[in-house]
Amino acid sequence: MQKNNTFLGIDIGGTAAKIGLVNSDGEILEMDSFSVSFDGYQTPIIETVVKNTDAFLKRLGISEKTLSGIGVSATGQINVLEGTVAGSAGHIANWLGTPVKTILEEHYHLPVAVANDANCAVMGEQWKGAARDSHNVIMITVGTGVGGGIIVQDQLLSGSVGIAGELGHFTVQKDGIPCTCGNRGCYERYASTTALVRRVKETSDFPSDVVIDGRYIFRQAAEGNQKILCILEEWIQDIAVGLVGLIHIFNPETVIIGGGVSQQEELFIRPLKEKILEKIMPCFRENLHICAAELGNNAGLLGAVAFLMQCEKLK
Ligand SMILES: [Zn+2]
Repeated sequence: MQKNNTFLGIDIGGTAAKIGLVNSDGEILEMDSFSVSFDGYQTPIIETVVKNTDAFLKRLGISEKTLSGIGVSATGQINVLEGTVAGSAGHIANWLGTPVKTILEEHYHLPVAVANDANCAVMGEQWKGAARDSHNVIMITVGTGVGGGIIVQDQLLSGSVGIAGELGHFTVQKDGIPCTCGNRGCYERYASTTALVRRVKETSDFPSDVVIDGRYIFRQAAEGNQKILCILEEWIQDIAVGLVGLIHIFNPETVIIGGGVSQQEELFIRPLKEKILEKIMPCFRENLHICAAELGNNAGLLGAVAFLMQCEKLK
């Protein structure tokens, strides 16, 4: 792939999508966003994306012929080999099975690569964020659930049918808490922000007008609320347990924690790092760097383009 190429990055979330013009240095030159859920998904997401992409290019006076390809970050389970939606959050109608790659390739006559948002996040962080210069990277995104992406020797781990890296759903507890995937005891039932909120709600009494979310919990912790600090410590311990296992399997240089809570350096990232370093075998500590994600909201967009560049190089 030559230098000075321009790509289109599209980041399709559950409610809104972002579209950006990205150069081969990873600079976002133009960006726009639009809703994909405006009519309850009656208009299929892919139709909305194509319509808005056409309008975006027209507004900028750009012909698709001048672009080098389209990288797409998408919500749901994405088969990265086929560029299709292999699994979807139940509430999104007209999304499961969508052949995203084929539709966009036929419409724009450009190479297209599609990966899920967590996989794109790790690709973006390796390209322009916290894992620059790392060749083996694990990223978890802590939010409503836990997303994940794994890079092994500079390649996104895709698995036999292109859906590897579902780090939220490896089992950490036999007969544990039921999960949305149908199994029990999945990592995200213990390691997500949702799990933290659940524990706080279960074990504490709060005035009914208080909205208990991640922000509230970290505010209380910062103010020295001992009960919350104890729950927080248990939660961080659970996150560490999963990452210790992954570090022993993949021996990464960099482990990245993403999601809104990753901005909490003192109350979250630092203690998490300490707990991980306590538990891993000493030889795994060499070269190991554990840190918060750096790219924030643009990780998906940039990572989609990074993934496209990787796929094109492999051809
Ligand atoms: Zn699960």
